[in-house]
Amino acid sequence: MSPILVFATNNQNKVQEIKLAVGSRFQIITLTEAGIHTNIPEPFDSLHANASEKSRVIFALTGKNCFSEDTGLEVDFLHGLPGVKSARFAGEKASAQENIDLLLKKMNGAGNRNARFRTVISLRLDEAEHFFEGICEGRITETPVGTGGFGYDAVFIPNGADVTFAEMTPEEKNNFSHRKKATEKLIAFLHTHGKNKS
Ligand code: IMP
Repeated sequence: MSPILVFATNNQNKVQEIKLAVGSRFQIITLTEAGIHTNIPEPFDSLHANASEKSRVIFALTGKNCFSEDTGLEVDFLHGLPGVKSARFAGEKASAQENIDLLLKKMNGAGNRNARFRTVISLRLDEAEHFFEGICEGRITETPVGTGGFGYDAVFIPNGADVTFAEMTPEEKNNFSHRKKATEKLIAFLHTHGKNKS
């Protein structure tokens, strides 16, 4: 039986992606499967601190090896905002559309539209913590384009593409995705770790 690793999410798409990549070396389970039904807060002002807090809480609750992730959109013209506040840029319960509207309003007339998505993963494995980061550089559009994806996808064009994330299929987005890059580093580490143990 392969060792259990709790993934601090209930998003089945994310879970499936990780399960495929990790293979049978670890048994990935969700928060619900680990018996956690509480909302874990993200109170800090850095992605690292929030990811770390989430994995710390999950380890404290389950006693199991686990990992968590936190993602933000950093816009140069806004000195790194919305960053760690990406989900609640326009208010605690803001919708993706409200966040996008505020972003475009704040960027009205901006010449420099460079931005990046950054994902940080915190892994707690055998009582040590490890971080993995994935970055996707790109730019913010003048208006939303496309209907796919979520969050800020409709206003973000990654470098090397000429359409927004919201115009791409999930597979196309994965060729650029910050989350995918961070996940690949995590998986490479897990494979090495597993080999060292056996
Ligand atoms: P979380 O770390 O997955 O909770 O992401 C925080 C917020 O960042 C989300 O609510 C989205 O607004 C935004 N976000 C994260 N990842 C993406 C992405 O891949 N595309 C667009 N927006 C994203």
